[in-house]
Amino acid sequence: MKDCNCIFCKIASGEIPSATLYEDDEFRVILDLNPAAKGHALVLPKEHYANLFEIPEDVLGRAAGVAKKVAAKLREGLHASGLNLLQNNGTSAGQTVFHFHMHLIPRYDNDALGIAWKPGKLTDQDRDEILSLF
Ligand code: 5GP
Ligand code: ZN
Repeated sequence: MKDCNCIFCKIASGEIPSATLYEDDEFRVILDLNPAAKGHALVLPKEHYANLFEIPEDVLGRAAGVAKKVAAKLREGLHASGLNLLQNNGTSAGQTVFHFHMHLIPRYDNDALGIAWKPGKLTDQDRDEILSLF
């Protein structure tokens, strides 16, 4: 199912050209136009799923396999010392394009890229509330 107003549907299908690192029947991996670091890439399923909650488990599993392969090539080819695999869901989580995608962000020593948070403290109340959900 394609969403005709979705930019990533158009990129994934090839309707809009992109710098493509990998493509198969189900996925396209492209370079991010506004990279956080050299080699920042996005794994896009060709089908439209808005987010993690919509994408079927089997598609997600195959997307992870594609991410792993491309990540290894980026790390080796660009001599990165690390890599962040990120995936945002919802505006509050920083999602700006509502077509599921995984970010592959190669990391370099002392790149000063701020993907961080201030660690909090797990309270007993939160722990018990969350544990009771499972
Ligand atoms: P999000 O914030 O939704 O997790 O990530 C969206 C990403 O898509 C951003 O990193 C942004 O730079 C990238 N992006 C947005 N529009 C385009 C586009 O038209 N082409 C490419 N290659 N990347 C895009
Ligand atoms: Zn889409």
